[in-house]
Amino acid sequence: MTTAKPQLSLYNTLTRTKAPFAPMDADNVRMYVCGPTVYDFAHIGNARPVIVFDLLFRLLRHVYGADHVTYVRNITDVDDKINARALRDFPDLPLNEAIRKVTEKTEDQFLADVKALGTLQPTHQPRATENITEMQTLISALLEKNHAYNAGGEVLFRTRSMDDYGQLSGRNLEDNLAGARVAVDEHKEDPADFVLWKLSSETEPGWDSPWGRGRPGWHIECSAMSERYLGQTFDIHGGGLDLIFPHHENEIAQSRCAHGTHAMANVWMHNGFLQVEGQKMSKSLGNFVTINELLETGTMGGRAWIGDVLRLAMLMTHYREPIDLTVKRLAEAEAKLRDWQRAARGAELAEGDEPDASVVNELADDLNFHRASVALDFIARKANRDEGNAKHCLAATLRFLGFSLDSLIDSDDGWEAPPHIANAIAARLDALNAKDFAKADTIRNELAEQGIVLMDYKDEAGQRATKWEVKR
Ligand code: AMP
Ligand code: ZN
Repeated sequence: MTTAKPQLSLYNTLTRTKAPFAPMDADNVRMYVCGPTVYDFAHIGNARPVIVFDLLFRLLRHVYGADHVTYVRNITDVDDKINARALRDFPDLPLNEAIRKVTEKTEDQFLADVKALGTLQPTHQPRATENITEMQTLISALLEKNHAYNAGGEVLFRTRSMDDYGQLSGRNLEDNLAGARVAVDEHKEDPADFVLWKLSSETEPGWDSPWGRGRPGWHIECSAMSERYLGQTFDIHGGGLDLIFPHHENEIAQSRCAHGTHAMANVWMHNGFLQVEGQKMSKSLGNFVTINELLETGTMGGRAWIGDVLRLAMLMTHYREPIDLTVKRLAEAEAKLRDWQRAARGAELAEGDEPDASVVNELADDLNFHRASVALDFIARKANRDEGNAKHCLAATLRFLGFSLDSLIDSDDGWEAPPHIANAIAARLDALNAKDFAKADTIRNELAEQGIVLMDYKDEAGQRATKWEVKR
């Protein structure tokens, strides 16, 4: 049976409205999302666009067919932050080698991190350094059309040459002038003009070009890579909302002026920001959490969390709202996912099994994951009562959403205690044996809050022991 596919509706930052989504070509729906600059481990804020746009990618594949969606997420592997990191970490190596060490290691870590979050691989993950020629072609076109000029060792974009510069962010050039705190660079015609190409010193990384040996500015990288893989105008462009200005505004300026088009992408989507335990994440506050730390160490709540749990904790808030990521929220997500996995336990999935239509319909409304999760709860309750094919439907829907079916449970042998529960039970037994009943009760109550119920008994040797089960 084929069910009718839903009409997607997406919020567009460019028009500031939610509207029905109509791809330019339903046989090839095209999406570009700005990827990481690979100089340091990705933090859990960076995980948000990765997860949000993975969900959208899955939804698009469901609606238009898996072979009819092209998703590009780039890797920015040329940037002055990378050069600085290379000098710091590998002072004894030639700079080029040191840079390669930094970018390769960071890229590998990023790919491992996002895989653990249950994300599909984008169709293409181009590296900036492999698209330098494409960037130079774009810059030449901009110079030719007088949208760019060469001054002070840089090629700069001439913002005044674009009548409607600033549409995405709602800023105009006068705002920029008024807000400009930095001293105006003497060689710029206008303070809002931005770098397309800059000359490199002998020790800096550089590529030969008609304007001398140099390196690209950040914005031109995305204009070049999106054109190469998606064409001059495509459907969806995404990223975190900090990228609206200047990055996306300038991508639009470059691409539209170089190609003489009315749009670079038709729909611009931006995820809200993430903070941790009520505070903006920053290195100086000491609350900077990398994805790797969250998954591997006890950085949040003294214990590690699995990627599935971070994924759900992230999606529980609408993608455009800010998120306050807390230990409590992670624990809630974990309990919820465990309930779902438990209700779906034993379902046997085949390759083409489709997700539940009501869940998909909720997501089709600008990725309303909250309402989708309410629909999922409803199916889980039916699955717990063994109604119809609810168990199977739940499993297929969880898989569609990118969740594992057994990461929090053991599939054949009842419930295996995840390490944090096993440790808590052992600590409580120690407390009981030491007659520290207050501590034992605290641990029991903490577990109860996570839906874990304990039962004490005496084993064959007469020793105190504890069984546990998950409360329905
Ligand atoms: P960056 O490496 O800083 O360019 O960021 C990569 C992606 O992560 C961009 O889409 C940013 O908008 C996004 N991002 C960075 N910090 C956060 C945060 N705290 N919350 C949500 N998204 C973020
Ligand atoms: Zn970009």
